[in-house]
Amino acid sequence: MSKIESNVAVPAGVQLPIYMDNHATSQLDPRVLEAMMPYFTTKFGNAASRNHSFGWEAEQGVETAREQIASLIGATAKEIIFTSGATESNNLALKGVAEMYRERGNHIITQVTEHKAVLDTCKRLEKQGFRVTYLPVKADGLIDMEDLKRAMDDKTILVSIMWANNEIGVLQPIAEIGKLCHERGVLFHTDAVQAVGKVPVNVIADNVDLLSLSGHKIYGPKGVGALYVRRRNPRVQVAAQIDGGGHERGMRSGTLNVPGIVGLGKACEIAQQEMAAEAKQLAHLRDRLKAKLESELDYIHVNGSMEHHLPGNLNMSFVYVEGESLLMGIHEIAVSSGSACTSATLEPSYVLKALGLGDDVAHSSIRFGIGRYNTEAEIDYTAAKVIDVVKKLRELSPLYEMVKDGIDLSKIEWAAH
Ligand SMILES: *Cc1c(COP(=O)(O)O)cnc(C)c1O
Repeated sequence: MSKIESNVAVPAGVQLPIYMDNHATSQLDPRVLEAMMPYFTTKFGNAASRNHSFGWEAEQGVETAREQIASLIGATAKEIIFTSGATESNNLALKGVAEMYRERGNHIITQVTEHKAVLDTCKRLEKQGFRVTYLPVKADGLIDMEDLKRAMDDKTILVSIMWANNEIGVLQPIAEIGKLCHERGVLFHTDAVQAVGKVPVNVIADNVDLLSLSGHKIYGPKGVGALYVRRRNPRVQVAAQIDGGGHERGMRSGTLNVPGIVGLGKACEIAQQEMAAEAKQLAHLRDRLKAKLESELDYIHVNGSMEHHLPGNLNMSFVYVEGESLLMGIHEIAVSSGSACTSATLEPSYVLKALGLGDDVAHSSIRFGIGRYNTEAEIDYTAAKVIDVVKKLRELSPLYEMVKDGIDLSKIEWAAH
């Protein structure tokens, strides 16, 4: 790993460190905190207490949130089941459907670039006798609809394809998938954590049967999420995975996290009001960052289709730069790398590998997750800093020098070491 000196002036108004990792989590919106506060203090009742005003007040807060969430995704309030987050929502959707529809079939279809909350759940279901097809993705990160059609058989009960990918920001053709699933009588679940509140989502128009969402990715609190479960055409049932008390129409027992739920509801309400304008602003910032990087650096490329893309996402590979050194060089900007720290080793991201990237290029990739609180000045500083660090690292890179000298690296026979 190389450590380099980089002194890029910090513009007025920019505070370090800069947070640009909004796919990992997002800052709580102050308006959300304000809505939550009373439910920590005076309105502390248990939403299941039916005998007094403390309970009614808490229940009122929960029901308002249910309406706010339903409204954002085109559902009805009764179709919203509260959970501890999208990891639980994904578990409940997949395991709940698998258990409930086992008589009908044992085949599930998903894709290789799903979040671990879906992939690991599928692995467990495989151990229990379910058959899972993991669809590949094309170089642009999108699934091939023909692959999906071919994978479906008379034992297929569920398709689970995420709306927006958390690493590369690619939006899958959800409406097309939903239509196909409904034609074939197969249930359709989507992990929409990164899509809800960022792009228009409508479970009716897009034929979605189950949808997972999470509070902390949309400027709401951590530890709260929801699962949409369709009640009509078709009426979907999921077997509870947590028993006791029969809360949430028997699908998810446990005393409700009332302040969290109120916060999630408020976050959805804000998203609904501001999404159109915010998406424009985020796309503007993202395109500005991309343009600046591309104007100053060669051998860089964007990962994932830019045509089907989340507004605030930019995932870029900086070839001939060592990923760890690059991240070190820009350490006061919080971003994610194309490496996943699984156990003690640094593994290249399985999502980037699924696009066909080699390990080196995956490691030298950065995910910029631009969000509500990022400013143009922060973008400009980030661009300047990345450009400076990449240029300096490349000065130290023999590979880059050889490429610049016109040597075809693929023709070189490397000595064994
Ligand atoms: C963050 C995330 C999850 C997990 O959500 P939690 O609420 O943190 O459990 C699931 N899927 C995607 C795509 C995510 O980005």
